[in-house]
Amino acid sequence: MAINMEPAGSRTTGKVRLHPTQNEALLFEKSAPGKRAYKLPPLDVPAADAATLLGEAHRKTAAALPELSEIEIIRHFTRLSTWNYAIDLGMYPLGSCTMKYNPRVNEFVSRIEGLAEAHPYRPESHAQGVLEIIDLLQRCLLEITGMDAITLQPAAGAHGEFTGILLVRAWHESQGNPRRRILIPDSAHGTNPATAAICGYTVENLKSNADGGIDLDALARQVDGETAALMLTNPSTLGVFENQIHKIADILHEKGALLYMDGANMNALVGKVRPGDFGVDVMHLNLHKTFSTPHGGGGPGSGPVACKAFLEPFLPTPVLVRKAGNNGLSELHWEYDRPQSVGRVRAFYGNTGMFIRALAYILANGPDGLRQTTEDAVLNANYIRKKLEDLYELPYKTPSMHEVVFSDKRQLVHGVKTGDIAKRLIDYGFHPYTVSFPLIVHGALMIEPTESESLEELDLFIEAMRAIAREVEETPELVKTAPHSTRVSRLDEVQAARKPVLRWRPAE
Ligand SMILES: *Cc1c(COP(=O)(O)O)cnc(C)c1O
Repeated sequence: MAINMEPAGSRTTGKVRLHPTQNEALLFEKSAPGKRAYKLPPLDVPAADAATLLGEAHRKTAAALPELSEIEIIRHFTRLSTWNYAIDLGMYPLGSCTMKYNPRVNEFVSRIEGLAEAHPYRPESHAQGVLEIIDLLQRCLLEITGMDAITLQPAAGAHGEFTGILLVRAWHESQGNPRRRILIPDSAHGTNPATAAICGYTVENLKSNADGGIDLDALARQVDGETAALMLTNPSTLGVFENQIHKIADILHEKGALLYMDGANMNALVGKVRPGDFGVDVMHLNLHKTFSTPHGGGGPGSGPVACKAFLEPFLPTPVLVRKAGNNGLSELHWEYDRPQSVGRVRAFYGNTGMFIRALAYILANGPDGLRQTTEDAVLNANYIRKKLEDLYELPYKTPSMHEVVFSDKRQLVHGVKTGDIAKRLIDYGFHPYTVSFPLIVHGALMIEPTESESLEELDLFIEAMRAIAREVEETPELVKTAPHSTRVSRLDEVQAARKPVLRWRPAE
């Protein structure tokens, strides 16, 4: 990996020559009238006038679309793609996000013609192959989670939470009272309180104890007949395993409340323990995290929801069921007639291309491979922890699982914050870690290497982090003004979020 150690001042002295691809104009600015990326043969039918054909629907002035040749378009987008950071370029140490490698076998399998071109509205009898894939993935995920029933419909983790809490609500309603509150620990992912609120619940905060876990006595005091559920991330966003989880489940169940597990961090658990075995009633998984399907701009997400049998009647429709076919063989079939269902949460049956990739990942690894993956992910996080704990403050001494959380306490003495260190990391060729999250750690540096990284890559990352810690002591200004090697340095993040410029307008 290229490490750019360019001295900080060079940009301002004007000595830096930007590579031409770093000064890319917009397609609109490159446009020249009459350029085309295609050539059509002469018409062999009479020309028709669009305005006559479309009438009122025809636009009065031509759209200001850019006009370019094919190679100009290709070069434009290829250049832009080189400015991007991607998991295929280097380590992506974002914590809580499990930015792991997307194995090529997944892509190969998902592009098989019969799968890639299957129409979602094909009759069931013609879709038995892809339904078998969906069914097998469901069974694998049930085995991994130890749960009884599952839906693959939700399109993301947050969407899975929404679906899961709808199940909780529907079940409580069937018992006569939807209840009013959902408990959420202060270490929770921000999507958890958002989910509870959008499902009509009041969010009640639960304080973590000194180890970063749930305080059982506080929990017992807070749970009552109006508590619908506790939403718990396990391992938590501190990378800490909630080792009292079975007791937490007992406390909730005694008062008729349910345990929701945010399973986005299952990368630390797969093949080792099963949430269904430690009292979880309903949970979601992130295929785009734990199961190696593309994440972020790389592709649509998928957030399956698995639950215990008593919640199964409420699952979104349709549900995949196996029935005996005419020829004596079993057939898969979508069941719609489910009177207690919360209804559909996604068109078709979710993002099928992601199911194929996730299943390819599961089958390519096999049970032992998945367990090994978990062990490697945890080992990698702990390796980083050991190699950095002399320089960066560890707010929680509890053993780390798949991610390690430091704080900027020691760097703050020199006026350097977690965000500055993260930006300096860009100059060393790495994507920043997760900055200032979880909120209960002031100035958090949250690092999740995943199992994808080799020892060599981990060592490079550790060297970069150690070099930055030295810079913080010797030349803090260098860190505070980073990055120095990028096309633009510090952006006005507030302006960018509050007043984004989303539309190009031609110059007057
Ligand atoms: C990523 C994540 C989510 C949300 O998942 P999305 O797919 O981004 O909606 C929820 N909880 C935790 C703990 C996460 O890490």
